[in-house]
Amino acid sequence: MQPQDFEEWSRKAAEWGATYRRTLRDRPVRARTRPGEIYRAIPAHPPETGDEMQAIFADFERIIEPGMTHWQHPRFFAYFPANAAPVSVVAEYLVTAMAAQCMLWQTSPAATELETRMMEWLREALGLPPGFSGVIQDSASSATLAAVLVMRERALDWQGNIAGLAGQARVRIYCSDQVHSSIDRAVWISGIGQDNLVKLPAQGPTGSICADALEDAIRTDLEAGHRPAGLIACIGATGTGASDDLRAVIAVARRHGLYTHVDAAWAGAAMICPEFRKLWDGVEQADSVVFNPHKWLGAQFDCSAHLLRDPDALVRTLAIQPEYLKTHGHDGIVNYSEWSVPLGRRFRALKLWFLLRFHGLEGLRRMIRNHVRWSRALADRLAATPGFCIVTPPVLSLFSFRAEGADDAQTIALVNAINDDGRIYLTQTRVEGRVAIRFQAGQFDCTEEDVDTAYRAITETAARLAPSG
Ligand SMILES: *Cc1c(COP(=O)(O)O)cnc(C)c1O
Repeated sequence: MQPQDFEEWSRKAAEWGATYRRTLRDRPVRARTRPGEIYRAIPAHPPETGDEMQAIFADFERIIEPGMTHWQHPRFFAYFPANAAPVSVVAEYLVTAMAAQCMLWQTSPAATELETRMMEWLREALGLPPGFSGVIQDSASSATLAAVLVMRERALDWQGNIAGLAGQARVRIYCSDQVHSSIDRAVWISGIGQDNLVKLPAQGPTGSICADALEDAIRTDLEAGHRPAGLIACIGATGTGASDDLRAVIAVARRHGLYTHVDAAWAGAAMICPEFRKLWDGVEQADSVVFNPHKWLGAQFDCSAHLLRDPDALVRTLAIQPEYLKTHGHDGIVNYSEWSVPLGRRFRALKLWFLLRFHGLEGLRRMIRNHVRWSRALADRLAATPGFCIVTPPVLSLFSFRAEGADDAQTIALVNAINDDGRIYLTQTRVEGRVAIRFQAGQFDCTEEDVDTAYRAITETAARLAPSG
């Protein structure tokens, strides 16, 4: 591609992006494509000769765009948000243009040093103590895998990487039954195995494991000759926002020398607001904490902040070259590839820098506080509407509901009908075995009016489905 064509098409892409964002409110949130439609629209064989950009771009608009679910739509209330604030998109254009591989300090000093500073900013913004340092991982799943590998290595006297797990005592990891599937996968991939992930029931109003139950589980394992290695606590679990009592459970874990990791992938962003920090009271005692700025905070996917009380154990677990152990962080050189499973790294700090500078913490706090407020108001409104009941009350901006007396099939029919309507997008979860509809407000451009539209879309659709008479 000639430089002037690169410039022209870059400009076209940026113009397309701006128009796309401006017109999102007029589109149905969820893609309306049938399975296989897009696949069949793409030729079965790769082209032998090059094509014109005009034709490629036209096909993008014709085939791809209609097959997208619009995650940046202001009325996206499904899953958790994957916000890409426009300012972080601009930063990503720049990162994409430079396309640096930032595995080592010397492969792009600016990427490494900005990352160090951004993690300091985030640590302070979340109210974590100054001792914590951090690294940007590609996902919370990767951060959790890294933490589980540390748990394994610590428990096995740093021999797991070398000798493998055959013939070793069983490494045991504890968590609640509300944790994200990434925790299961981390124990699979680390070779620890599902049978050694001890899931304790989440109980009480916040959905926490019970400290006594954790104590009992650890003691039982010790008596059996197993090796208790770590605790994974969750704050704001995906289903309904279950949160462990960190102060109580980390105290038990620390008494037994366990490494502790906190998965606050979604809820962590809200901790920039001091009034919400009671949700993770006691977090400063954790060894490792992950939260995703690419969820609620507004940093374009992917951007997962992994904060560590002491990175030594992580680097000792993941560094390929032992000599780096001696230097990391102490001579002004950090090689962040030694802090994560993948070697290659994108320059992820730039979008955080642009985001935090452009909006300021006050701007981001205002957004999060609005989402929490509007979501609670919607829960109250639905609770007061005949025919609806709240299944789990709001945790920050997440709650679940269903139509009163609805069975699972009826609840699924309602959520599907709401999504087919197109005004909003919701997803379902299971609460005590029964299907419930999740609602979370969190999209960057969401307004109070959009949440109002959600109320109308929910109640109007339910009325339409209700048997007449
Ligand atoms: C989203 C989420 C994850 C997974 O995050 P990825 O970055 O996609 O790996 C893990 N835990 C919780 C609680 C989440 O909400």
